This record gives sequence, structure tokens and C-alpha cells, in this order.
Amino acid sequence: MRPDLFQAPDYYLLDDLLTDEHKLIRDTARAWVKREVSPIIEDFAQRAEFPKQLIPGLAEIGGFGPYIPTEYGGAGLDQISYGLIMQEIERGDSGIRSTSSVQSSLVMYPIWKYGNEEQRNKYLPKLATGEYIGCFGLTEPDHGSNPGGMLTNFKDMGDHYLLNGAKMWISNAPFADIAVVWAKNEEGRIHGLIVERGMEGFTTPETHNKWSLRASATGELIFDNVKVPKENLLPNKSGLGAPLGCLDSARYGIAWGAIGAAMDCYDTALRYSKERIQFDKPIGATQLQQKKLAEMITEITKAQLLTWRLGVLRNEGRATSAQISMAKRNNVAMALDIARDARQMLGGMGITGEYSIMRHMMNLESVVTYEGTHDIHLLITGMDVTGFAAFK
Ligand SMILES: Cc1cc2nc3c(=O)[nH]c(=O)nc-3n(C[C@H](O)[C@H](O)[C@H](O)COP(=O)(O)OP(=O)(O)OC[C@H]3O[C@@H](n4cnc5c(N)ncnc54)[C@H](O)[C@@H]3O)c2cc1C
Repeated sequence: MRPDLFQAPDYYLLDDLLTDEHKLIRDTARAWVKREVSPIIEDFAQRAEFPKQLIPGLAEIGGFGPYIPTEYGGAGLDQISYGLIMQEIERGDSGIRSTSSVQSSLVMYPIWKYGNEEQRNKYLPKLATGEYIGCFGLTEPDHGSNPGGMLTNFKDMGDHYLLNGAKMWISNAPFADIAVVWAKNEEGRIHGLIVERGMEGFTTPETHNKWSLRASATGELIFDNVKVPKENLLPNKSGLGAPLGCLDSARYGIAWGAIGAAMDCYDTALRYSKERIQFDKPIGATQLQQKKLAEMITEITKAQLLTWRLGVLRNEGRATSAQISMAKRNNVAMALDIARDARQMLGGMGITGEYSIMRHMMNLESVVTYEGTHDIHLLITGMDVTGFAAFK
């Protein structure tokens, strides 16, 4: 892969809306991505391998639990800082951002919000440093968009719970130390359980042959009469709202992350358009290529404004799940459109690993699907404005 010459677009001078601390956090993450991620990521993606050596650095830039209080090892940052970190990591690769999102919002968040003090102290500091990597088991082979129909279940055996079932498409599963697993009790109520690697009957086979998120490990979680200690149940929230609360936090991070991928594609295509000569002039001097670039920067700017405002609402505790759905859906679709146009602008070079665009494009096919598909988020907006749930 070529040297990383990334220059972030800021067409509406949005840096003026950030504090000095925000900019410092963002610039630290940006420099780390340039130094540690860009030189190796293409190779790892081609080999379909998660670069584990990035784990300590991810922890240092605040990639694990940016908004978790410092008393539990988190960075104690606000929601804009969290978003900016996700933007920078995904500028490098959506798969690396996925690991960071899962760890922060789908593992640390539920332990912090729904766990007891003992669970917080036991797991959060180790997750914050990356000593432990976690995964989040909600999706099942027959229940993706409709997780409420899940079949994974646990029975109260007196001194422990007995867990049975299977989860599918789980990021980080193949090497995770712990899994936050959503399962129904005998009354059909959904609860979160912390399952640890090494528990008898718990296996995590890897999912192979992905064309997308190749630098992120994906797998299944299989529970065959797993004895889970009673103290591993998250006591403070149950019902479908518990996993959905985690998804709100992760989807918000994805909305920022997608901007990072889009910025990288735009910046690469812009530079290429000035250097690539055809018919004796740079392709960037042609109207058709300018149309693509002008639309890209317009859409990136709109997404930046949408997401910044959402961050302010999150900081004030006023952001709704439906607002988060809108941003996730809009920004990922925007990034995917930009990746596709940017890839075309590079002609044949666009399909090679010399440039990051095709990797972003393929990654975004997962991002547009996970954490609620593009269509499901549209239906959430539809439900929010009409009051009718069309997906049921
Ligand atoms: C790389 C990757 C990583 C993932 N990581 C995780 C993870 O860490 N943890 C986890 O729990 N899950 C994870 N997922 C799972 C992901 O969240 C699901 O794939 C997603 O929710 C969609 O579920 P599904 O694949 O079963 O598709 P389905 O739900 O079967 O949907 C298929 C299609 O039907 C559409 N559809 C479904 N219902 C309706 C409806 N009512 N009306 C109209 N259209 C509808 C969908 O929009 C979609 O286009 C991951 C997925 C991928 C690809």
C-alpha cells in the first residue's frame, strides 16, 4: 500500500465547534492510525487476519471505553470525543473500528450500565487496557433483524445457570476472553450473561471466506450446557431494551466511523484526480469527475453536521434511539456511495490494494448490514414519525 497522505476535509470549518481537548484527542488518534494502522492494514485484510498487535495502541488512544468513567479504567470522555476516536479509527479500517466499538459499547457499556459493582471492578479495567477482549452475542442463525425471537436460553439450576443455544456473526468471537450473551430465562425474559472462555461447553468457531471486514475476526458462539455462575448475570436491566441500549451507543459510534471511511475515500480520489492525466489534462479538470468530488464533499459535510449535533444531544442526554438510527443509516449509505464513486475515479488502480478505497467499500457492506440493516433503520424512522411499526 502507498504511503498514507491523508488530509481531513473540513469544508464548513467544523473544527471551530470542537474544544482544544476534542482536537487533541482526534489528532492523537489520527497520528496513531497513520503510524500504526495504515502501513499494515492492507496486508492483514488480504490475509483475513485481525492485527492483534494494535490492541495496546487502541487502548492508549481511548479506543476501549472512551466514555466509561476513569474509576473503572475508561477514558471518561464526552460523546464528541468518543465519536472523533471512532471516526479516526474507521478512517484506517472499519474492521479495527468494529473491535473498538464492540469492546466499548457492546461489552464495557452493558457491564457498566447493567452490571453490579463487583462485575464492573472485575472486568472493566482489564477491558479498558485490552488485557481482556470481549464480544457481544445477540444475533442468532434464525434471528437477525428480529433479535427478540432469540432461542438461546438459560435455566436456573440452583447454584448456577445452564446456558444453551448459538449465536452467529459475532465480531471478536474467535479470540474474545469474555462474551456478553443475551439469552431468555424460563419465563422468556431476555437477560445478559457474562460467559468466559474456558467454560465447559462454550466454543467459538471462526467464520471464514468473508469478502468484507477481513481484518476483523467474526465467529459463532456455541453454548452446549454451559454452566454459568450466578454472579455472571447482569442484574440491573433485562428485556430487549437492554441489548438495544448497547446498540444505541455502538450505532452512534458507527455514524462517526462511517465519516472517517468516507473522508479517506474522498481524500484519496481528490489527490488522484489531480495527478492522473488523461487526454492531456488531469481527470480532476473534467466536469464528470468534479461532479463526483463536489457531491462527495457535500455529503461528507452534511454527515459531519448531523453527527456533531447528535453528539451534542448525547452529551445532554437528549438523543433518541430514532435519531441515532437516522445518523447510522444516512452516514453509512453516504460512505458506501462515496467509496463506490471514488473507486471508479481511480479506474483500474481502484480495485487494487495499493489504495484503501476498495477495502473501505467492501468493509462498508458489513457496516450497512450490522447493528441494524439500512432498511430496518429506515423502518425505525418511519415508525418514529408515524407511530406505526411496519416491520412487525
Ligand atoms: C461482519 C459482521 C459482524 C457482525 N457482528 C455482530 C456482533 O458482534 N454481534 C451480533 O450480535 N451481531 C453481529 N452481526 C450480525 C448483524 O447485526 C446482522 O447480520 C444484522 O442484524 C442482520 O441480520 P441478518 O443477517 O440475520 O439478516 P435478516 O434479519 O435475515 O435480514 C435479511 C434482509 O431482510 C431485511 N428485513 C428483515 N426484516 C425486515 C422487515 N420486517 N421488513 C423489511 N425488510 C426486512 C433486512 O433489512 C435484510 O435486508 C454482524 C454481522 C456481520 C455481517
